[in-house]
Amino acid sequence: MEPRIGVYVCHCGSNIAGTVDTEEVVRFAQGLEGVVVARDYKFMCSDPGQELIKKDIKELGLNRIVVASCSPTMHEPTFRRVCQEAGVNPYLFEMANIREHCSWVTEDKEEATDKAKALVSAAVKRVYYHQPLETREVSINPNTLVVGGGIAGIQAALKIADSGHKVYLVERTPSIGGHMAQLDKTFPTLDCSACILTPKMTQVGSHPYIELLTYSEVGEVSGYIGNFKVKIRKKARYVDEDKCTGCGLCQTKCPWKVDSEFEVGLGQRKAIYTPFPQAVPNIPVIDKEHCAYFLTGKCRACEKFCEAKAIDFEQEDKVIEVEVGSIILTTGFNLFDPTPIYSYGYKRLDNVITSLEFERMVNSSGPTEGNIVLKDGSAPRSIGIIHCVGSRDEKYHEYCSRVCCMHSMKFAHLVREHLPQTEVYEFYIDIRSFGKGYEEFYNRVLKEGTVFLRGRPAEITDVAETHEEEGKLVVQFEDTLVGRQRRLPVDMVILSCALEPQPDVDAVARLFNISRSADGFFLERHPKLDPVATMTDGIFIAGCCQGPKDIPDTVAQASAAAAEVLAMISKGKVEIEAATAVVDERICSGCQVCRLVCPYNAIDFDAEKGACRVNEALCKACGACIAACFSHAVSLSHYTNEQIVAEMEGALA
Ligand SMILES: Cc1cc2nc3c(=O)[nH]c(=O)nc-3n(C[C@H](O)[C@H](O)[C@H](O)COP(=O)(O)OP(=O)(O)OC[C@H]3O[C@@H](n4cnc5c(N)ncnc54)[C@H](O)[C@@H]3O)c2cc1C
Repeated sequence: MEPRIGVYVCHCGSNIAGTVDTEEVVRFAQGLEGVVVARDYKFMCSDPGQELIKKDIKELGLNRIVVASCSPTMHEPTFRRVCQEAGVNPYLFEMANIREHCSWVTEDKEEATDKAKALVSAAVKRVYYHQPLETREVSINPNTLVVGGGIAGIQAALKIADSGHKVYLVERTPSIGGHMAQLDKTFPTLDCSACILTPKMTQVGSHPYIELLTYSEVGEVSGYIGNFKVKIRKKARYVDEDKCTGCGLCQTKCPWKVDSEFEVGLGQRKAIYTPFPQAVPNIPVIDKEHCAYFLTGKCRACEKFCEAKAIDFEQEDKVIEVEVGSIILTTGFNLFDPTPIYSYGYKRLDNVITSLEFERMVNSSGPTEGNIVLKDGSAPRSIGIIHCVGSRDEKYHEYCSRVCCMHSMKFAHLVREHLPQTEVYEFYIDIRSFGKGYEEFYNRVLKEGTVFLRGRPAEITDVAETHEEEGKLVVQFEDTLVGRQRRLPVDMVILSCALEPQPDVDAVARLFNISRSADGFFLERHPKLDPVATMTDGIFIAGCCQGPKDIPDTVAQASAAAAEVLAMISKGKVEIEAATAVVDERICSGCQVCRLVCPYNAIDFDAEKGACRVNEALCKACGACIAACFSHAVSLSHYTNEQIVAEMEGALA
């Protein structure tokens, strides 16, 4: 059929029209071969803009459409749908990005207009050679995998399971709860963290639709949206989960003590342990690295005293295989270790502690039973809290960790609550109290007498220069409000450390085939309009693995991810991209190089035919296999040589 092309140039308000002469681009497009109509409009993505295209398709018999507007990431699906609704195959459409590639990268009107014309010409030439393609549908397995059992994972799992769908919740530590389980009270409402978290943890532990896999990690992921296959390694607990009653006698009788990870080194645990009293499941694990029996072959005290006969030294790691339709990653954050900031003296000077250490210290179920104490057991009479440690710092993390201002002010309040006579100094750069009720909390802390000093401290030292400084930590800083250097002696310093990506974030990103943003956290598909989806269909992210955030935002994101999954489940099927790689079996030499380079594991080898075959549901049309194929046996539908050469010729014309 003779191509009849319609070209539509979008102003995007002044985003494009402020720099590109859109009328000139339209005049130019009208002269291109095959173009029946060319128009410009304020917002092509708006309803009237879409209607304009539909009307022209019907009245002028258009059979190919070019829209010159923004990035296809955003609106290609919109305009493909418009074509389909008007009876044109959605693949007979092409988009020219004259915003990000053109108006946003220069202020020179002439240059911008020339480039817009070149991009439109390229798109028109290309669409000429487009072929209609058929999208396919795959069914959705209604089971979901949630990875990470912090508040984000707990919330997402409960939302989905409460709707009657099965969830596998994988947590790598012996209990769910994440960082929230370590917190004392939570800003701005000051409700006790455990009081709001524990009921949710218990719900997860007993939910008929949640299979809880703690002390476990995902080892392998294959498949595609709606049909993932996941291998989970369940580490040996050396305790039979069916027999254990959670009485805790084994922990009491175990003679070996080591630093507790949960108490961030401020307290100890036994070699057989549950991380904290409210752990879910309430089943201990034996830490093989520190258990006397595993190290020396002697002891077995836990076994002797266990009435339920639950100790099993012969237990081995198990690999469980599950099939799920969608995956939600909620793997959270890691607290920045301030040791590299030598001048702050962490681990070098007594009484310099991190934010998480303070959370445990002030917690009544923590190692000091809620007493804020110095190394010698006495109560501090003055405390300095330093904001932005490792955050907003070019040397470490340039981003703002979002929760530190607020939890630093929470600490000030908690100090005044426990030790009303103690002076509290907050060293800040700017105060970021952005959330609901946060500014009120800031004012409350100010009224309580907390002293705010503007300036990032340069050094903490224990070298006294005056009698007043003797036996104290001295914070040296530039008070930027009065413009002079100052020294402030205090008894304790709390470092409000950055929230950073987990140490294994790269490996996890590769395992699930998702991207990371410049700050290292997992990257969302679109920061505003698709904040919990990833570039890999069927895989979602929520909570601090996407970036630092407080509990309200974490819970909101987790609920959003659950809603995305439930929408997919209720639809029952999903459309997959029609543009994929295709192997010509007659030419394929069977060398399988394409399989090595495919990042999506989308290529199988058919031994009988001696040729490779593309799994269309997995293929993302990245083209890596085509570049690698020595025999030129692979091609990409919608990216044929003919189409690409025409596009280049169009751009150069
Ligand atoms: C000192 C401090 C005080 C804070 N105080 C407050 C406050 O008062 N109010 C407030 O709103 N917010 C506060 N926050 C922020 C709050 O801690 C976070 O918003 C919340 O913990 C984020 O939850 P999450 O589930 O995203 O991540 P996390 O709590 O980090 O949970 C992630 C979970 O995933 C698990 N995991 C990680 N990787 C894997 C893997 N590969 N496989 C399986 N499991 C994995 C981890 O073991 C963990 O259980 C504070 C933060 C800090 C550091």
